[in-house]
Amino acid sequence: MEKTVKTVLITGGSRGIGAALVRTFAQKRYRVAFSYQTNAELAQELVQALTAQGCTVQAFGADVADWQQVQRLVQQTEQVFGKVDILINNAGIAQQKLFTDITPDEWRRMLAVHLDGTFYCCKAVLPAMIAQKWGRIINISSMWGQVGASCEVHYSAAKAGVIGLTKALAQEEGPSGITVNCIAPGVIETDMMAGFSQQDKQELADQTPVCRLGTVQEVADAALFLAAYNAGFITGQVLGVNGGMVV
Ligand code: NAP
Repeated sequence: MEKTVKTVLITGGSRGIGAALVRTFAQKRYRVAFSYQTNAELAQELVQALTAQGCTVQAFGADVADWQQVQRLVQQTEQVFGKVDILINNAGIAQQKLFTDITPDEWRRMLAVHLDGTFYCCKAVLPAMIAQKWGRIINISSMWGQVGASCEVHYSAAKAGVIGLTKALAQEEGPSGITVNCIAPGVIETDMMAGFSQQDKQELADQTPVCRLGTVQEVADAALFLAAYNAGFITGQVLGVNGGMVV
């Protein structure tokens, strides 16, 4: 496939890692569509700031755990930009709770956002990627999906599921020229860490071989690498962006 300007759809782009992904791809002159769940104002501020820099960006509201809303998100993106060439499944939620306190509704919601959401978004964009015989899917998992975290059993299970989905889908879509990879971030300073005290964060930094937490930009740069043309021989992989905490 020729090197034309590509369209990337990023879920959960209003804040944190997602907002860094939006900024990074937009500033590299990709056409960017991104979704948010509730933060419409924040999403529009990001669109306006990047548009003022000459970037091509649109935001759409959609709950990734809802198949109808995901279908609408992809249709809206296709109406504005044409097909989706690159999908980044980033939207996520977190919760710290003892396993015995997790309710069945909390369990289902965690799996719905991370695992159903990834399934729905892949399902919605794949027919067009398969037809054009080129695509990139990047799923944001977590190092906790690799090794498991105490008090985050539902989160760890959902993120492990995303890794399994990635590996299997990579096998299936390879012949269609589509790569499917995971990024498994370590501890990254975002709103998702709001439940952690300064002391907790310092302890996590101390446990990390590079002696600090990660930045949203470091995750975004890894995604940029996996999305590139010359990353076409990399598929089914889990790229740890974790300062060496999980090897
Ligand atoms: P964040 O700052 O809390 O941002 C979460 C983003 O996801 C927001 O844009 C939010 O939209 C969106 N979102 C949440 N639920 C959604 C839903 N049901 N449908 C659509 N969008 C939804 O989180 P983050 O730290 O950037 O995390 C991003 C991804 O990285 C997540 O998948 C997370 O599990 C993963 N991760 C994070 C870390 C970390 O240390 N931060 C580590 C490993 C993996 P609104 O703004 O509208 O709420």
